[in-house]
Amino acid sequence: MSEIRVRFAPSPTGFVHVGSLRTALFNYLFARHHHGKLILRIEDTDQTRYVQGAVENMIKVLSWAGLDYDEGPDRGGNFGPYYQSQRLDLYHDHVQRLIDADQAYPCFCSEERLQSMREKQAAHNLPIMYDGTCRHIPTDVARKRMREESHVVRLKVPSQGETVVDDLIRGRVAFRNNLLDDQVLLKSDGYPTYHLANVVDDHLMQISHVIRGEEWLPSTPKHILLYQAFGWHTPQFAHLPLLLNPDRSKLSKRQGDVAVEDYQQKGILPEALINFVALLGWNRGDDQEIFTLEELVQSFTLKRVNKAGAVFDLHKLEWMNGYYIRHIKEERYLQIGLQWMGKLGLDSGNRQTNENILKAIRPALNTFADLPEKTAMFFADTLNYEEEALQWIRKEKSKEIFSRLLKELESYPQLTVNDFGSVMKGVQKSTGCKGQDLWMPVRAAITGMTHGPELPLVLLVFGKNKITRFIKQALNL
Ligand code: GLU
Repeated sequence: MSEIRVRFAPSPTGFVHVGSLRTALFNYLFARHHHGKLILRIEDTDQTRYVQGAVENMIKVLSWAGLDYDEGPDRGGNFGPYYQSQRLDLYHDHVQRLIDADQAYPCFCSEERLQSMREKQAAHNLPIMYDGTCRHIPTDVARKRMREESHVVRLKVPSQGETVVDDLIRGRVAFRNNLLDDQVLLKSDGYPTYHLANVVDDHLMQISHVIRGEEWLPSTPKHILLYQAFGWHTPQFAHLPLLLNPDRSKLSKRQGDVAVEDYQQKGILPEALINFVALLGWNRGDDQEIFTLEELVQSFTLKRVNKAGAVFDLHKLEWMNGYYIRHIKEERYLQIGLQWMGKLGLDSGNRQTNENILKAIRPALNTFADLPEKTAMFFADTLNYEEEALQWIRKEKSKEIFSRLLKELESYPQLTVNDFGSVMKGVQKSTGCKGQDLWMPVRAAITGMTHGPELPLVLLVFGKNKITRFIKQALNL
C-alpha cells in the first residue's frame, strides 16, 4: 500500500469544538497506526468567518492534547501548518485550468437575480439551485466579460447520472447529479470556496484518506465531481458519526459545553478528554474503556468506527477524568493541583500543606474545578457534623475513646503520622475498642464526616493542635 497521508483541516472560526478534536484525533490515530503522515491545514479562505486568535488557539489545543503533526511549509526552523489564505495563486491557476477545459464557467448573475430565482423555485417547491443561465454564454463573450464584470466561477455539474461515494464507514452512498448545484469554486472576492481549496489541496498534498465529520458527506459528491473534472484520482473517504446529546439531538452549544476550552476550564486532563473522545464512535470490539494514546494508536482502525451517532455523556467524561486523576504520576498530579489551587485562591500559606491537602482529597476528586468543594474542610476553622457522624460521636464508648486519645496526645509534642498510629494503638489497648468502633468516632470527631480522606493525611494537614481542639469539641457535644 502506498503511504497513508491524512489531514486535519479546521476552519478557524473561534473555539475548538469537541467534534473537531475527535476529527483531529481519529486522523492522528489513523496516521500513527499506519506509520503515515498527518498534515495540519488551516482552511481560512472564508474572510467573513475569520476570528482573531482562532488559529493560535487551535494549535494550542492540539499540543495540549498531545496530537502532533508531520509536515508543513518551513517557518524559520519550525514547520507548518499550511494556511490556505497563503495559497491563493494555486487556486486561481487551478480554476483557470478548469475553465480552459470547459469544466467550469464564469457566472455574472447578480445577487438580486439569484435571490428572485430562489424565491421562484421555493414557490414552486423546486430544489433551490443555480439554474445554469451563465453556462451557455459563448466562450469569447465570457472571456471578455470576465475582465470587466464582477463574477464567480462555477463547476459544470453533469445534469444526468449519479455520483457515488464509497465511504469506508457508511458504505455506498449515491447522489443524483441533477440535484447537485453548479457549485461556486471561486468567489467574486477572488477567494476560493471551501470545495475548491479543499480538493486542490487534498490532491496536491497527496492525501490518501479524507477522514471528517458526517456533516461534510453532502459535500463529498461535489468534491468527487471536482476530482473528475481535474482528471485526478479521488482519495478514500471516511465520514465520522455525528455527536449527539443524551436525548439524541445533535450536540450543540445550547445543551451544554462543546468547546475543548470549556473542558480545560473544568479541570479535565488531556489524557481523559482524549480517551473519552476516542470512544465517541469507536470501540476496540471489547469492553475496554481506558486507553493511553499509545494503546489507541495500536488498536485504532476505521473498521471499528460506527455509523450510528455517538452520545456525548458528560458523567462518563468526569468519571474518566477521576480515573486519570488517580492514575497519573503523583508529581504531575501535585503540579497541576497546585496550579489550580493558586488559580482558585486556595492556599494554606504553606506549599507542603497544600500538597498534603491535594494528596488527601485525591481519591475523591473527579475534576480540578471541584477543588473548592473537596478542600473546604481543610480551610474551615469549624466543623459541620453530618448526622451519621453525630451518632458515632454520641455512642457510649466514644467519650472514653476521646479522653484516652487526648491523654495519649499529650505525650507527643510534635505529632507525626507514625506517632498517630502509636497513639491509636494505645487508645485501642486501654479502651478495648478496635476497627470501626475505634476509628469511626475518631474520624467523626476530627472531620465531622463518616467518610472522606484518610485520617493520617488529614492529620498531616490539621496538625496536633487542631486535632486536639476538635476531639475536645466532640467530647463536649
Ligand atoms: N474546513 C472544514 C472544517 O472546518 C474541513 C472539512 C474537511 O475536512 O474537508 O471542518
